[in-house]
Amino acid sequence: MSMNDILKCCTLCPRRCGADRLAGKTGFCHAGAKAKIARADLHYWEEPPISGKNGSGTVFFSGCNLQCCFCQNHEISEGCKGFELSDEELAETFLMLQGKGAENINLVTAAPYVPQIINALDIAGDRLTVPIVYNSGGYENVETLEMLRGRVDIFLPDLKYYSCKLSAEYSGAADYFEQACRALIKMWELVGAPQFDENGMLKKGVIVRHLVLPNCRHDSAKIVGWLADNFAPHEILISLMSQYVPMHKALDIKALSRRTSTFEYNTICEMVEKCGFDGYFQQRAAAEDKYVPEFFDEKYY
Ligand code: SF4
Repeated sequence: MSMNDILKCCTLCPRRCGADRLAGKTGFCHAGAKAKIARADLHYWEEPPISGKNGSGTVFFSGCNLQCCFCQNHEISEGCKGFELSDEELAETFLMLQGKGAENINLVTAAPYVPQIINALDIAGDRLTVPIVYNSGGYENVETLEMLRGRVDIFLPDLKYYSCKLSAEYSGAADYFEQACRALIKMWELVGAPQFDENGMLKKGVIVRHLVLPNCRHDSAKIVGWLADNFAPHEILISLMSQYVPMHKALDIKALSRRTSTFEYNTICEMVEKCGFDGYFQQRAAAEDKYVPEFFDEKYY
């Protein structure tokens, strides 16, 4: 089966919609037959070994297989703002970012576009020399991840919820934890423990991101507990984020209508440290600056 044939009956992610994307149908994620992106530029707000000095060459894909009620990028994830690219243009986009000095190519919310990305990586071939980062909400199929073997160097998945009730209510995915932890184990199998270069830039490995939500610290604690039960401290990195800001549909949900408190965030930081994991903690002051990049509906570069 060719990469494009997969789009005839799309089962790329755990939604398994079966949408015939080649015939113009779309599934839960709104993705169509062609890759659609809303921004491709250097991005300086990822974890230090991803952004480095020059910035991460970030490609924001439009559409998403989760619809988180608090998504800060809902303009593209739900609204599907963006512009379509052929696989050749996507390859040129990766090369353009590398030419601008990007430390890596950072594919954000790429699950619905894995076939197009694989085609684009094949077209770019040996000309693309920087690491490829797969930046994901965590809701992934292991079969789709397997297609990325040898093509992706760094996985940057979220692990958002432990509770089915929370994931159903906030992201419309009751099976989120079951799928995301299987996916995380697969990601680790594909790239292994973190490897850095002489400048401290990550060349291979997995950084697990977790955003501490308000009124959810017990859920966050279960996630850290699961990570500690399944990974040795040197096997993964953890990025604990605190920048939650009520927005979008979360403004109507009482439990999500305030910021995460310092107490809630620090409780989880201490737990991560006690488990011996290395990682990245967010300064509360930095978390005050909500950064949402500008998105485009026409190719602008
Ligand atoms: S990638 Fe999109 S169309 Fe394909 S199964 Fe997932 S949600 Fe459905």
